[in-house]
Amino acid sequence: MKVDILTIFPDFFRGPLDFGIVRRAREVGLVDVEIHDLRAFAHDRHRTVDDRPFGGGEGMVLKPEPIFECLEALKVRSWEDRIAGGTEQSVVLLSAQGKRFDQAAAKELAGLQRIVLICGRYEGVDERVGEYLADRELSIGDYVLSGGELGAAVILDAMTRLIPGALGNEASSQQESFTAQVDFQAADGPTSTCASGGLLDYPHYTRPADFRGMTVPEVLVSGNHEDIRRWRRRTALEKTVRNRPDLLQQIVLSDEDKELLAQIRGKDI
Ligand code: SAM
Repeated sequence: MKVDILTIFPDFFRGPLDFGIVRRAREVGLVDVEIHDLRAFAHDRHRTVDDRPFGGGEGMVLKPEPIFECLEALKVRSWEDRIAGGTEQSVVLLSAQGKRFDQAAAKELAGLQRIVLICGRYEGVDERVGEYLADRELSIGDYVLSGGELGAAVILDAMTRLIPGALGNEASSQQESFTAQVDFQAADGPTSTCASGGLLDYPHYTRPADFRGMTVPEVLVSGNHEDIRRWRRRTALEKTVRNRPDLLQQIVLSDEDKELLAQIRGKDI
């Protein structure tokens, strides 16, 4: 996958690209990330990329010309072509006003061949970029950041780890928080002790079993795989009820889940 990031702060990405899974994925050629400095596409002496907003008001707005010219130089497919579907490319504008980025969007992007991430700054980006260049606007959460760079790094990370081969153990991405439906009836249903099935992940513990008197739940050292599976499902449900009850509306609950939920709610979690 090729990822192009358009920014006025190219150095920002030195850190996020150089650690862990993203770094490894780049090294083995699963993802090729190129950072483009928008100032290189500004033609005046001061390399101006922003201007005052029409109609007055606070702050500055990123101008359309450098962004359009950068994309033209990159030979990204036209908006119409991408919108028409059947294309493996997407141009994403990072925006607080965008659709909320989530695990499903990360999975969709991870299946594409080319992604362009446009990072806004100041009061935002000239609206024509969102209208005529980008095929989607994504927000990483309901808060306002100073720029799109952190959002681009978040999207890049979440998406890269879903590219087949990026994780050492492919099964791990199937078992994490938010990972979509598990078909409980299917032969290959949640055979693992820990398929999340759209819930938040269950709690994890490692050695030592007794750390300053804080001990790991006994069931995890019991060696009884069925008890461990049930405990993990129960604690994943407990965390989801406590922290993200909205997720329960979006998933198919097994009969066992319903029984565990009744016990949990009986406990008044
Ligand atoms: N005036 C804009 C508003 O109120 O929605 C905020 C502009 S913000 C200060 C500057 C840039 O940061 C935006 O153009 C966008 O690229 C990025 N940004 C801010 N919040 C974001 C979020 N929650 N998700 C993704 N990008 C964000």
